[in-house]
Amino acid sequence: MPRRLRRRYARNWERDESLRSLLRDLPAYWNSRPLSRSLTFALIGAKLYHQFMPRFPAGQTLLVDADDTLWENNIYFERAIAAFIGFLDHKEHSPAEVRQALNAVERENILKRGYGLSSFTHSLIECFERLSPGPVTEEKRERVRSFARSISEQEIELLPGVKETLAELGRRHHLILMTKGNQAEQVDKLARSGLAAHFAAVEIVEEKDPSAYRAVIARHELAPHTSWMIGNSPKSDINPALAAGLHAVFLFHKDTWVLEHAEVSAAPEGQHLIELDGFARLSEVF
Ligand SMILES: [Mg+2]
Repeated sequence: MPRRLRRRYARNWERDESLRSLLRDLPAYWNSRPLSRSLTFALIGAKLYHQFMPRFPAGQTLLVDADDTLWENNIYFERAIAAFIGFLDHKEHSPAEVRQALNAVERENILKRGYGLSSFTHSLIECFERLSPGPVTEEKRERVRSFARSISEQEIELLPGVKETLAELGRRHHLILMTKGNQAEQVDKLARSGLAAHFAAVEIVEEKDPSAYRAVIARHELAPHTSWMIGNSPKSDINPALAAGLHAVFLFHKDTWVLEHAEVSAAPEGQHLIELDGFARLSEVF
């Protein structure tokens, strides 16, 4: 190895105590546990990934999704749906079948009424009317409405690291909130979250499709090579943003709504797609 390279290698080695100690302890790991060899390679892989992950300079525009990216959202719907399925207590359809029927009703209602609580309430009532074996009384309808109402009574619960990370990102980058759904509900959640001051602009669209992203790019005169969409939904945040020419960061959330599930597209030539396992890790990239 040329001396110059060797010196640089030694300097980096000096600085990186964590990688050094990991490698130093390798023989002990391997001798002590049969599984430790693959675990070690996984750790080294993660470490190298972390070291070589790109970092982007100040001045990027970050479009940030809201529900299940900044704060919990879908878990409240899941609880309401579980309560609904329990109340329906269907003797022929399994809970999974009732859920599938509800998903189908929701898909139809989203086309007619858009996203949000009012649309969801209609879907619950409609699903109840379709599946209920007995007569549907106003009292039962009211009970079903109460499951949906419980969602609106939830406090905003920020996801781990969001408050600090957003403040830090806001000092170096241009932040725009990009969410879909009912205008009044999304504005209310943002106000209650205490995060509104970090955003230079708020975009609430009916559907996050490529044309919605193109419209936002045009409205804010964004340069696609320094603009990113960050969110938890492959269907709404990642794939259409990539199709519109933006870079994207996919933040995995284990409770993402089933209607938002999709295969994550590969990034087109010249665009970046980064996957991270938590909002706080954005400060490693931006
Ligand atoms: Mg989301």
